[in-house]
Amino acid sequence: MRALLLAAIALAMAAPASSHDTSPPGDWSFAIHGGAGTLERSRMTQQQQADYRAALQTALDAGAKVLKDGGSALDAVAAAITILEDDPKFNAGRGAVFTWDRVNELDAAIMDGNGRRAGAVAGVHTVRHPILLARQVMEDGRHVFLSGKGAEQFAGEHGLEMVAPEYFGTDERRRQLEKLKEENLSALDVEFKYGTVGAVARDSAGHLAAGTSTGGMTGKRWGRIGDSPVIGAGTYADDRACAVSATGSGEYFIRAAVAHSICDRVLLAGENVDVAARTVIGEVGALGGDGGVIVVGKDGAPAFAMNTPGMYRGRATSDGLNEVAIFADE
Ligand code: ASP
Repeated sequence: MRALLLAAIALAMAAPASSHDTSPPGDWSFAIHGGAGTLERSRMTQQQQADYRAALQTALDAGAKVLKDGGSALDAVAAAITILEDDPKFNAGRGAVFTWDRVNELDAAIMDGNGRRAGAVAGVHTVRHPILLARQVMEDGRHVFLSGKGAEQFAGEHGLEMVAPEYFGTDERRRQLEKLKEENLSALDVEFKYGTVGAVARDSAGHLAAGTSTGGMTGKRWGRIGDSPVIGAGTYADDRACAVSATGSGEYFIRAAVAHSICDRVLLAGENVDVAARTVIGEVGALGGDGGVIVVGKDGAPAFAMNTPGMYRGRATSDGLNEVAIFADE
């Protein structure tokens, strides 16, 4: 009897509680963002608001469908982000902001909470979907973070869809850069918003994933890289805690190690994702930065936190939650 008991204890210890014990089978949760910033009702026409909501809904539905059909968190994240990268309204892929030198330099990262695998790219300008390149870097597994020419070469060797550098530019983004130069503005004045896109997911197997894709900040120079592709700053996922994608003034998000800090608070202090997200965005604000995050934890609905008047966002769960929003007070 005693031997049996000991064997049972040994078995229980050898098989530690999995990270998804808390999620009922079939449970999934998904969120996206399309950037935070000075998004105020008075600055947007009804038509603009409707266009953004429709675009968010399309990306949200694409990711949610993957999860509903039993697909992986990684696939859901990639499905939503590729749609947002193709949409010129967002600062990622086509429609990315221009650098000071009038080119588009794209950054992206993806992370698998299952084993904390990650892939990231910075400064690419001929890869149609930087998020898929980041994923390829992760799947390849030899490196985590590739940049510039090398990243482009890797993309070519791995059959990623390549486009001419001009594919990404839009007249609206060009106008924003010229305005910034003429009036000596900051990237924030010229856009009134960030426009990075991101997604976080928990799939029905309980695995988490996060991804982020961006053109960075208007008028960026000297090969500047923001938080989005920096693992632990703009993007992070750990099945034991949560998955996070950020948008905002990247320099502050890097300094506050935002995405990793949120997951650490959840993992080590046992905070719920909502409290952890708000606390860390509070820290960003205290440093002088602004922006927001989307977070999904081991159970429950996704959380949002922002210190800006708005953030393009949406969330959906297996419980039937399905909503998109723009303004902070929604
Ligand atoms: N966080 C991005 C960056 O600093 C900008 C954004 O969120 O739109 O590159």
